Amino acid sequence: MAATRKAKKLPNDGAKNGWYEALPAPPPAHSAEGTVTVDWAVVGAGICGLTVARQLGELRPSDSIALIDAERVGYGTSGRNAGFLLKGHSHGGEKDMELGKRNDRLCAAGVEHIHDIVMRHQIQCDWSDWGRIYVASGAPGETHLDRLAHGLEGIGTTYTEVDRDGMEAVTGTRFYSRGIRADGTALVQPAALMRGLGATLPPNVELYEDSPVSEIHSGDGFRLICPEGEIAARQVVLANHVFAEELGVARGRVVPVSLFASLTRPLKEDELKLVGGGGEFGLLPSSPNGSTVRLTRDRRILMRNTLIYGRAKQFDESELAAARVNHHEGIRRRWPDLADIELDGTWGGTLGFTRNGGVVFGEMAPGLHAVMTTDAAPLTRGAIAGKLLADQLCGIDSPLLQDMLALPKAARLPPDPFLRFIVNRRIRKAESSEAGEL
Ligand SMILES: Cc1cc2nc3c(=O)[nH]c(=O)nc-3n(C[C@H](O)[C@H](O)[C@H](O)COP(=O)(O)OP(=O)(O)OC[C@H]3O[C@@H](n4cnc5c(N)ncnc54)[C@H](O)[C@@H]3O)c2cc1C
Repeated sequence: MAATRKAKKLPNDGAKNGWYEALPAPPPAHSAEGTVTVDWAVVGAGICGLTVARQLGELRPSDSIALIDAERVGYGTSGRNAGFLLKGHSHGGEKDMELGKRNDRLCAAGVEHIHDIVMRHQIQCDWSDWGRIYVASGAPGETHLDRLAHGLEGIGTTYTEVDRDGMEAVTGTRFYSRGIRADGTALVQPAALMRGLGATLPPNVELYEDSPVSEIHSGDGFRLICPEGEIAARQVVLANHVFAEELGVARGRVVPVSLFASLTRPLKEDELKLVGGGGEFGLLPSSPNGSTVRLTRDRRILMRNTLIYGRAKQFDESELAAARVNHHEGIRRRWPDLADIELDGTWGGTLGFTRNGGVVFGEMAPGLHAVMTTDAAPLTRGAIAGKLLADQLCGIDSPLLQDMLALPKAARLPPDPFLRFIVNRRIRKAESSEAGEL
């Protein structure tokens, strides 16, 4: 049956992504022009789209695949995050540890899959196996930390306790009262990783950037409408994350939440002793109101905190200014001598959560498929979900695909304004009761 899906909103990430700005300027974008006919069209070149298109290209060398993004590869959320490729990750709140273990197997496979590609193509993305420390700075954070430890034990991930002195040895600050260190996580420069993935796609995958898909017409196949052209495809995969709802997929099943991050300028030699000496590190907050903090390979501090309900999927200057204040405050509390350090960029990104640890994966309508990464460890679960969707489309089964298919479907959520109210109330509660963790 003929149908048209029209997007009311398209990506407009606005504020500069500091990771992306640290890279050399890319070659000019190749955008969709005129009419292009392909076997498969994949919408969205974040981690999910890049992995689904790569795997389709490798499994079906004689098929043609168009991978289409509204922006440049690496500029969107997959390139503007904190760069933790997580495995053995658990928020500790899981009632069903079997679900936790399944997710863990998927995440572990996701890290391996990305690592494989990075090694095979020598992608320069500052890959590091440093791992991560979950941190707390006071009693509220420590309660979360205990739950996290319980969750890690439940999924069989080993960890070691780090006390205040141990935290100071790593970070140079006595801000943290306690941490737990779990290996099996890689740290990357996310924009460099995404750009590298985009630059090393199989030859039968054509990447179209700066090409927002505003409409999809279906009938006898699909027609995807971009500003300067259209793409005709037999089958479509939507890998455009929280923008899938704009094209009528997963509506009312994914909570959009926006997070903000800043990168400082590179620290000077004499400043490095304040942050533990200059060796890189990656800290994940145990509290929802806490800050993700990294000292990067190029010696910048990454500070990630501040949550807002993200239905707008873009940010105005007042939201960015509020995040900037919180990022400076986070730095001041940890390293007072760096309180006024210049930030090279502050930006936001929107990601999806579900109510039930559920997934959006598989065929949504005849010939129209979707893959979206949600909840914990989205980069690694997204990488493997993309690969597994391509496997499924090509008829390849595996125990991992069965793990993926056994995850619950994302459950229905209350509509706005109720959802907005509930999410905002939770955020405000965490902000007030766990203010010290920021
Ligand atoms: C500040 C921050 C820190 C984070 N830290 C981490 C972390 O350390 N580890 C982790 O695992 N996750 C982290 N995340 C979450 C993670 O980055 C995302 O969940 C993940 O990147 C989503 O991947 P994706 O491929 O599903 O979507 P995206 O990366 O959002 O990719 C979707 C792509 O689709 C494109 N698109 C959308 N609509 C259209 C359209 N109509 N036409 C064409 N293209 C379209 C967009 O431009 C975008 O490039 C963080 C997120 C933020 C914001």
